[in-house]
Amino acid sequence: MPEVIISVKDLVKNYGEFNAVKSISFDVYEGEIFGLLGPNGAGKSTTLEIIETLRSKTSGQVTVNGFDLDKEPEQIKKIIGVQLQTSGFYPGLNLVELIHLFGGLYNQDVQPMELLKKVNLSDKAKNKSKELSGGQKQRFSIATTLINNPKIVFLDEPTTGLDPQARRNLWDLIKEIRDNGTTVILTTHYMDEAEQLCDRIAIMDEGRIIKLDSPDKMIDDLVESGFERPKQVKAANLEDVFIHLTGRGMRDE
Ligand code: ADP
Repeated sequence: MPEVIISVKDLVKNYGEFNAVKSISFDVYEGEIFGLLGPNGAGKSTTLEIIETLRSKTSGQVTVNGFDLDKEPEQIKKIIGVQLQTSGFYPGLNLVELIHLFGGLYNQDVQPMELLKKVNLSDKAKNKSKELSGGQKQRFSIATTLINNPKIVFLDEPTTGLDPQARRNLWDLIKEIRDNGTTVILTTHYMDEAEQLCDRIAIMDEGRIIKLDSPDKMIDDLVESGFERPKQVKAANLEDVFIHLTGRGMRDE
């Protein structure tokens, strides 16, 4: 059995009278890519921000790597990497300067070039963050989650707004991070992304987890229940056409 690295039990979050998270329970296993999916307002960010120690909970128990959220939030902070909004990067600083700045916040001695190499941005080291393309900004933002060598990284819609090539490139990066032993939790609105990347997903709706399983098992369950697609499925989709025509190469290097 894989080790549980995050355990959430009966988690409740109320905003005043409004019950945003309605007693949810789930475990995340060490070394997996775990997806939290659901429509806007489902309670995904609230749940993640509570685990990240950034938001208070109403009730329930959360344990991260054996640390109780109520008793040892500082220990939890030390072992997680949270994606910073790219808008928060000082536009006038170059990437090396930004990494030193964030390293200082984490009280970590950082090796900027090593970190930039991991996310394939070595040749942009001296560029300012405002000079990066959308895909490069996202890769840099993922690099910032790795500054403190975390055991778990949280990625919030990591590929939103990117072109298909940049999305695939980020999928490879996220898989690499997982393959290096880091547990990844992400949110996404792209079902193809969840299917490609996630070992398991939890689908949230209106504050509840309505299904938690591997993408494969979820699809099999639906088919078994008698579901059929309304029309004949083609052997390729429009995204395949796009990638076939334009190639997999990155355009924004
Ligand atoms: P998601 O990330 O799935 O879109 P959120 O966790 O952001 O969902 O929000 C869940 C619900 O809680 C929404 O109805 C949202 O309006 C509400 N909510 C989120 N943050 C606050 C807040 N600070 N105060 C009041 N309501 C909030």
